[in-house]
Amino acid sequence: MDFDRDYSMTINGGPATAASWLDVVNPATGKAFAQVPDCTSEQLDEAVSSAQAAFPQWRALPLSDRQALLLKAADAIEPHVEALVRLFTREQGRSTAGARLEIEGAVQWLRAVSRMAPPEHVVEDSTEQLIRTRYVPLGVICAIAPWNFPVTLSIWKIAPALLAGNTMVLKPSPFTPLCTLKIAELLRDVLPAGVLNVVCGGDNLGVWMTSHPGFAKISFTGSTATGKRVMEAASRDLKRVTLELGGNDAAIVMPDVDVDAVAEKIFNGAFYNSAQICVATKRLYVHADVYDRLRDRLVELAQAAKVGDGSQQGVTLGPIQNARQWERVRELLADAREKGLTLLQGGDVPEEGFFIPVTIVDNPPEHERVVQEEAFGPILPMLKFQSVDEVIDRANASDYGLAGAVWSADEDAAMSIAERIETGTVWINQNLVLRPDTPFAGRKQSGLGVENGMEGLLEFMAPQAIYLARS
Ligand code: NAD
Repeated sequence: MDFDRDYSMTINGGPATAASWLDVVNPATGKAFAQVPDCTSEQLDEAVSSAQAAFPQWRALPLSDRQALLLKAADAIEPHVEALVRLFTREQGRSTAGARLEIEGAVQWLRAVSRMAPPEHVVEDSTEQLIRTRYVPLGVICAIAPWNFPVTLSIWKIAPALLAGNTMVLKPSPFTPLCTLKIAELLRDVLPAGVLNVVCGGDNLGVWMTSHPGFAKISFTGSTATGKRVMEAASRDLKRVTLELGGNDAAIVMPDVDVDAVAEKIFNGAFYNSAQICVATKRLYVHADVYDRLRDRLVELAQAAKVGDGSQQGVTLGPIQNARQWERVRELLADAREKGLTLLQGGDVPEEGFFIPVTIVDNPPEHERVVQEEAFGPILPMLKFQSVDEVIDRANASDYGLAGAVWSADEDAAMSIAERIETGTVWINQNLVLRPDTPFAGRKQSGLGVENGMEGLLEFMAPQAIYLARS
């Protein structure tokens, strides 16, 4: 398979192209380097029909067969990791090492999910009656993914949805469709036709999908603003929804930390993938006693970061993934500058491409946009605090509730702070760790429902209670 050209959608187990094409831009150069088909509404209908047609047989397979096919899917992708890594860096921008983590991680994720099985419960088994609850698949899943972790976040949907017995039509972001299209092509010989369809197109396609009557459920990852539109579209025929949306995660650094030991981990938690991570640290609250030392250490790390084309050796931070997001981050930076906030910046950035220097904002007022909004780019506000109660109030004063972190030498104290943070995930003395066996769920406007873990698997299923009367 040639990973550098011939990008086609996968519909009903075969390739599909279209009359019109969309450019895919390398964010490190700002130049288009590939084209993908722009799915028509007739092709979407075809994809949904093929997924509907494949559903009865797919759901009727024994679970062990679907588990085995997910393992075969992992085996089919694995020999192509290096080709996918190169393609990933070209379309997404991330460093080669970071791209490898994502592609290898997807293979491992498929394998881990293939070992899962939905539970069955016996509520009562007596002389009067037998009551069983079991879980059944929903039908055709509409899956929509964003551009920041395009492969990971697609696999988070594909693996559990298919294991549960559903079929799927998946849409990657128009900014990062290439690896997903090639992975679907690799799986054409593994999965029965129609089980996994991958289509691509502009944002219109998302609107057509979320209002399409053929879907039983929408699994969406993206911004909170789009998530609200998805939920509105789903309400027309009460499609089930799982929404994994934005975040403005707070990290709290207590005065007892070893600043030198934690600085690099905190830096990575904020800036990995050039801060384009839903669960990145986006507000860094630091106790006044260690504030200056940690700030100086983070500025040193910012200055040492090598920002550039992710395919070049030594580059640690790539570009902002697309021109739209780049403009948004630059606008936020200009606003901070206009307000007279202190910006501590590191490193030279290339002239070509969508680059932003690593920026730390030194103790801005809490109400500033740079604190209140999800930047989704390398601008980190550092904020000073004095007391635990005060910092927990400030961390929780957000419409978002995705994740957060606590850094402290005292595990018990950190645990009690973690329990008071109103987010679906909290890390203590680590961050960005997410696992297939652990639920990931946004609170407040960070989302609805759960991905991953048994809870995430069951979101792709419906409980069925069976009552048998015994005479
Ligand atoms: P986005 O909402 O712009 O787009 C996400 C996807 O939705 C894309 O595939 C896009 O084409 C599609 N889309 C756009 N308009 C649509 C519509 N009206 N109906 C249906 N689909 C539509 O988000 P983005 O800019 O690609 O991603 C960045 C955002 O995603 C950030 O806010 C980030 O925090 C969030 N995110 C959340 C998680 C999570 O798990 N909670 C993970 C990654 C990213």
